[in-house]
Amino acid sequence: MSIVCPECDNPLDIDVDDVEEGEIIQCDECGIDLEVVSSDPLELAPVDEEDYGDEDEDLPLDDEEDE
Ligand SMILES: [Zn+2]
Repeated sequence: MSIVCPECDNPLDIDVDDVEEGEIIQCDECGIDLEVVSSDPLELAPVDEEDYGDEDEDLPLDDEEDE
């Protein structure tokens, strides 16, 4: 089974028996991360690498001191 990178059309040499759904593989050519969305037939989808959850946490400091 031959499949090409959806990003750069580089033929990817993937052994279907070697991957499973949900696995992330990387294209040698463009370095994009591809998720195996289906193993039969083999189907890949580019993984969106958006950095969510990396916001600055600006927690207000409660600096109360009881005396
Ligand atoms: Zn590629």
